[in-house]
Amino acid sequence: MADTEARLESMVQDDDINHVFVEFPDLNGLSRSKQLDADYFLDSWEDGFTMNLALLTQTPRSDVVAGSKYGDEIDYADALVHPDPQTCRRVPWRDDAVRVICDFEFQDQPVPGAPRTVLKSVIEQVSAAGLEAAVGSELECFLLESVTNGAEGGAETESGSQSGTQYVPATSDKHENLTRATEEVSPFYDRVYDWASALGLDLTTMHHEFGAGQIEILFKYGDPLGQADRTFRFKELVKHAATACDQHATFMAKPFTDRAGSGYHLHVSLFDDGENVLEGADGDLSERGRHFVGGLLEHADALAALGTPNLNGFKRYQPGTFAPYSASWGYGNRMTAIRVPGHGTTRVENRISSADANPYLVVAATLAAGLHGLEAELEPPEPSEGDPSESRPTLPQSPREAIDRLEADEVLTESLGEDVVSEYAAQKRHEIERFYSQTTAWERDEYMEIL
Ligand code: GLU
Ligand code: MG
Ligand code: MG
Repeated sequence: MADTEARLESMVQDDDINHVFVEFPDLNGLSRSKQLDADYFLDSWEDGFTMNLALLTQTPRSDVVAGSKYGDEIDYADALVHPDPQTCRRVPWRDDAVRVICDFEFQDQPVPGAPRTVLKSVIEQVSAAGLEAAVGSELECFLLESVTNGAEGGAETESGSQSGTQYVPATSDKHENLTRATEEVSPFYDRVYDWASALGLDLTTMHHEFGAGQIEILFKYGDPLGQADRTFRFKELVKHAATACDQHATFMAKPFTDRAGSGYHLHVSLFDDGENVLEGADGDLSERGRHFVGGLLEHADALAALGTPNLNGFKRYQPGTFAPYSASWGYGNRMTAIRVPGHGTTRVENRISSADANPYLVVAATLAAGLHGLEAELEPPEPSEGDPSESRPTLPQSPREAIDRLEADEVLTESLGEDVVSEYAAQKRHEIERFYSQTTAWERDEYMEIL
């Protein structure tokens, strides 16, 4: 038995461990899990566990998605999840359980549309090109508190959810004071660090972002699959940490009309035999680095479709904010979609995605788009200085447009696989239909009196 497998078994055999959560990321990057008795897990884990493949496309808010082949119970009733022993960790927010990330298999084959499988296949394409990628991520989110209805008034009334709960940025007066140390604001931060280190998530820093109650977390760069796993786990952890502090955290892309949105920026480095291929002799972007950027711009619409999975996120794309608006690139310029940050190792940053994006799909699509740029030797236009929103093509303005453009992108579809693109498109169309079937409070406020 390999070391990692023996390690998995000994972790589960520990007297304290009674439960195992086998989990997988769904198409939205949310954790879907099954709770197992530890002894049962030990008896059966090498064979895998049945799990409903429809969970991949279904969201916690929707029923089975029309047009999804994975939602078809008859064909996929016997899909299995197989634990990846390397991902077994003790759950820091309880003392009697471990969690293991799994891959889906059907009839002895990996399920091609499962996000982790998609990423693994793109990583293979990168290594088939003789390269090795390392990625680092920046993730933003809001820490919120719930208030009783009507307590805050004004702009905060927009923060009501359908359940009637109102969320406002946590202790917003303190968060607006950027000079305060984070630990003075909430025990939430210490809890996040402690749990993240227990899970081996390699956080580097956590700091205030522009919005009141908005936080940014940086991860150390590492191998692409490990980084996606860590980001996936981190989001779950943040939710638990906030709950433990009687707060609430959201990775929603644009929770408030007048505040900054939350982004998920991905930094990519590429190596050929240990040599950074994105960096030229003078420390500037190399020719291959330019091609990589050219690939990201060529596929910017598809990157937006995958990086902005919920229709709310299209409200984050606005000119003149630090969120992107156009398919542009630059060096220090934070108004561009793609950036080449100035200090340290030359790397390329994809700033398109919002914090609600599925890390597996964002990493996979970013690598696939850049790789196509290298192979086709795509040249980007001149880097933008200042606000590029008028001189460069805009990113898709609506989820419908984004999904149409994703499906039209044959190169990326080939690289990621048709299954994931069609399942994703089916799920997003389902969401759009659900949204447009609702008459909203905004419409009543806007029209009822005057029409
Ligand atoms: N909040 C911005 C976004 O939505 C990013 C701000 C920054 O440059 O870190 O992408
Ligand atoms: Mg930021
Ligand atoms: Mg950034």
